Amino acid sequence: MQSLIAKLQTAFAGNVGVSVGFLIVAALAAQILLIFFTSVRRVFYEREQQNLSRQRLQLLVKAAALKAKDAEQVKLQWNGYRKFRVARKVLECHDVYSFYLAPHDGKPLPAFKPGQYVTFQLDIPGRDKPVIRCYSLSDCHRKDYYRVTIKRACAPSDVPGVPHGCASSYFCDNVREGDILDVKAPGGNFCIDLAAKAAPVVLISGGVGITPMLSMAHAILESGDKRDVWFFFGARNRADHIQKETLERLAAEYDNFHLQICYSKPASEDTHGRDYHHSERVSVDLFKKVLPSNNFEFYICGPGAFMKSITDGLEEWGVPDNAVFFEAFGPATVKKAAAAPPTGETATATAVQITFSRSGKTATWKPSLGSLLDLADEHGIKIESGCRAGNCGTCLVAIKSGAVDYLTEHGADAESGSCLTCVCKPRTNLVLDA
Ligand SMILES: Cc1cc2nc3c(=O)[nH]c(=O)nc-3n(C[C@H](O)[C@H](O)[C@H](O)COP(=O)(O)OP(=O)(O)OC[C@H]3O[C@@H](n4cnc5c(N)ncnc54)[C@H](O)[C@@H]3O)c2cc1C
Repeated sequence: MQSLIAKLQTAFAGNVGVSVGFLIVAALAAQILLIFFTSVRRVFYEREQQNLSRQRLQLLVKAAALKAKDAEQVKLQWNGYRKFRVARKVLECHDVYSFYLAPHDGKPLPAFKPGQYVTFQLDIPGRDKPVIRCYSLSDCHRKDYYRVTIKRACAPSDVPGVPHGCASSYFCDNVREGDILDVKAPGGNFCIDLAAKAAPVVLISGGVGITPMLSMAHAILESGDKRDVWFFFGARNRADHIQKETLERLAAEYDNFHLQICYSKPASEDTHGRDYHHSERVSVDLFKKVLPSNNFEFYICGPGAFMKSITDGLEEWGVPDNAVFFEAFGPATVKKAAAAPPTGETATATAVQITFSRSGKTATWKPSLGSLLDLADEHGIKIESGCRAGNCGTCLVAIKSGAVDYLTEHGADAESGSCLTCVCKPRTNLVLDA
């Protein structure tokens, strides 16, 4: 019995020794692990802090560089008209020419946002006053030139005796390499801001509406931006296919550029799959078949009816308004622009008196008369104008008294106390400095 008790005591004493030893080892191990993990955490934390500091520094450097670049760009801007020499004139396709414009003073050109346009003042023989027209820049920023691509605005076939468009015909028929033209600095709000965000885009155009899209596509792709760019272009057939080879080259070169060409009337020599992808008009039904979703920013430019059908279709497809951007090349009616509510609460419904103080004339405006510029035209009051769509800012007139409402959204800035007469109607009796 005694020997059993002694054995138990020994065993017990041994176990206590083992347990204490084990506890000490475990505590040491825990301590070491704690120290190890704390050190590892500290290393990670410090590395993270270093990364953050590096990123912050990079952002600061980038912001400073952008600021310096912006300041440089502001210095390069010009007011009024600057002389440009037509360095090259290139026939793109039937009745469409590109003009490469080099600054006559040889000084650097300011960058512009892809999608912006320039305004020309043209002295066209036979016209009693200069003709002012806007043309979108059709390439992204290049060091030595701006490029515009101009299509002759043909006379409507159903109205006999009407001439073709005066400025576009002048460009196509009369402007030659070496000629000097007066050009305003790039402007306009229909553009992609490359610095802001990188949402995938769908660039949609018909006919010569392709010009701002070419600029946007070049700018995105050449900047190395990897966002997806879907490019839908509608033409009748190959004869009207502007910049065909360039677009095909971009599609071959950039994986994120998805080219979709639609011919509404392919000619017998046009080959499906080589010249074009779809034998139909550009439509939202086609987008539903081709695009992976409707989660894109949509940029649209083309004839009025084309833009209306696309913007209506996108709305039905559930694309939010703030993801749809468009530009009309003239007084085209696009639902969203037309439906834009007047800025004032008391939109005019009845006749009001408009006094043109410089001309010493007073006229009665009624809703059927349209814009203030239309009213001025009707009464022989001279107000310079360009695009007649609120974009070029040429028709800006000071308001001496009264208030106006805008008929559409407008690209040009209207200084306070002034109005863009081509897209304004009176809200009250008005005195205009015209
Ligand atoms: C922001 C912006 C960007 C633009 N970008 C481009 C671009 O990149 N490329 C491009 O080609 N265009 C572009 N345009 C359009 C361009 O500015 C001109 O509007 C276009 O070239 C037509 O001008 P025009 O002087 O040739 O025609 P206008 O002389 O103004 O005539 C316009 C049309 O009316 C017809 N017409 C003339 N008289 C009558 C009459 N009595 N009755 C009925 N019809 C008549 C003409 O035949 C012609 O079809 C852009 C416009 C804007 C606002």
